[in-house]
Amino acid sequence: MSQGLVTMSYIAASVLFILSLSGLSNQETARRGNYYGMIGMAIAIVATIMSDSVSSYVVLIIALLIGGAIGAKAAFKVQMTEMPELVAIMHSLVGMAAVLVGYANFIDPSSALTGVEKTIHEVEIYIGILIGAVTFSGSVIAFGKLSGKISGNPVLIPGRHWLNLGLLVTSIWLCTQFVAGAETGGGTFSLLIMTIIALAFGVHMVMAIGGADMPVVVSMLNSYSGWAAAATGFMLNNDLLIVTGALVGSSGAILSYIMCRAMNRSFVSVIAGGFGTTSGGPAATVEGEVVEINVSETTALLKDSKNIMIIPGYGMAVAQAQHTVNEITKLLNGKGKNVRFGIHPVAGRMPGHMNVLLAEAKVPYDVVFEMDEINDDFPNTDVTIVIGANDIVNPSALDDPNSPIAGMPVLECWKGENTIVLKRSMASGYAGVDNPLFVHEKTQMLFGDANTSLQAVLKELQD
Ligand code: NDP
Repeated sequence: MSQGLVTMSYIAASVLFILSLSGLSNQETARRGNYYGMIGMAIAIVATIMSDSVSSYVVLIIALLIGGAIGAKAAFKVQMTEMPELVAIMHSLVGMAAVLVGYANFIDPSSALTGVEKTIHEVEIYIGILIGAVTFSGSVIAFGKLSGKISGNPVLIPGRHWLNLGLLVTSIWLCTQFVAGAETGGGTFSLLIMTIIALAFGVHMVMAIGGADMPVVVSMLNSYSGWAAAATGFMLNNDLLIVTGALVGSSGAILSYIMCRAMNRSFVSVIAGGFGTTSGGPAATVEGEVVEINVSETTALLKDSKNIMIIPGYGMAVAQAQHTVNEITKLLNGKGKNVRFGIHPVAGRMPGHMNVLLAEAKVPYDVVFEMDEINDDFPNTDVTIVIGANDIVNPSALDDPNSPIAGMPVLECWKGENTIVLKRSMASGYAGVDNPLFVHEKTQMLFGDANTSLQAVLKELQD
C-alpha cells in the first residue's frame, strides 16, 4: 500500500477514534461510539499490515494468532465482575510493549539518525521506557489489588515523598547520562537502572493507595497507558499511535481529574501516593442495633411509598441483579410511583460500572441520576433501596475525620424516610471500613443474595 493511502487510512481511523470518544461520553450514543471505535481499529490494523513497515508476514501472522487467541480466551472467560482486573492487566501489556519497543529501538543498528535528531530520539526512548515501566508494574499491582490477590490496605514507606523526589531527580540525572553515553555507543547501564527505578516506583505508587481510592489509580493508569502508547508511536515514527495514545492519555487524565473531584481528593497527592490514609488516630467503631426486614415487609413498604430511590453498588454486579431491578422498576412505575436511581461516581469496581449494568438491563436513562443531581432529594424520599452498596453510602466519610474514606462525598440516603440495605452479611466493602448506616435508626437490613431477595420481592409485587 502506498504511503499516501496509509496516511489517509490513519487520518480516517483518528477521526473515528475521536467520534468514538465523543459517542462514549453519553449513554444514549455509547453503542454507536463503540462501533466507531471498532471500525477505526480495523482500518488502523489493516493499513498498518499493508504498509511498507511490515517486512515479515509470517512473524506478524504468528504474533496476531497468539495475541488474538489469548485475548479472545480472556474475553470469553471473564466474568462481568472481573472486568476491572482485565482492564488493569491490559494496561500492563501496553506498558510492557512500550518498554520492549524502547529497548528494541535502542539496540536497533539500522538507525541512521545523527546530531539533534539522534538526541531527540534517545530522549523519546528514555521517556517511553520510563512511562512504560511505571505503567507495567503499577498495573500489575492494581490487578493484584482489584482481584484481592494483594491486600487493599495501603503500604506506606516512611519518608515516601522524599523517596519519590529522590527517584525523580535520579531519573532526570540518568537521562542526561544516557544521552551522553549513547553518543559514544554506551548508555545501556543508565537505561537499565532507570527501568528498575521506574518499575519500583510503579509498585510503590499503587501499593501506597488506600482501598477506597483505587478508582483514581485505575483511571490514572489508563491515562499512563495512553502516554506509553504515544511514546511508542514516537519511537516507531507512527502518527496514528501518537494520536491514539494522546487521546487515551488525555481522556484518562480528564477522567482521573473528574474522579478526584468526585471523591474530594487532590490529583497531585494521588500521583505522590499514599493519600486516602489518615494519621489522626483509629476510625470510630460502629455500635448499635441491627434491625432486619423480610421480603414481605419490604414489598409492603414499597407498595406504600411514592418516591423510591435505588442505589446500586458492587454487590448488584456480583449478584447480577440488574435485570430483576429493571423488572421491579417497570412494575412500580406502572403503579404510578416515582422510581429513580442514584449513581455514585465510584460505585462498583470501574468508572461507569453501574451505568453499564443498568443500560444492559435496559433501565431508561432518564431515571438514572448522578450523585450530585440527586443527593439533595433524599429528604423527600420515602424509601431507598441500597443494593449491594457499602462504601458509597457510608456516613462516616462525612462524620469521622479518621475514617480511611473521610472527605469522600457519599449518597446521603439516611436523610430519607426509610432505607433498606440488601447484602449478605455485615461484612465491610472494598475500603474495609465499618458502616454506621447499617445500625442507623431508619435503616433495615434485608440479608441474602441481592438477586434472590429482589426476585422474591418481584414475585410478591406481581401477586
Ligand atoms: P463496596 O465494595 O463498598 O460494597 C459492596 C457490598 O456488596 C459488600 O459490602 C458486600 O457485602 C455486598 N455484596 C457482595 N455480593 C453481594 C451479593 N451477591 N448480594 C448482595 N450483596 C452483595 O461497593 P460500593 O459499590 O459501595 O463501593 C465501591 C468501592 O470500590 C469503593 O470503595 C471504591 O472506592 C472501590 N473501587 C471502585 C472502583 C471504580 O472505578 N468504581 C475501582 C476500584 C475500587 P456482603 O459481603 O455482606 O454481601
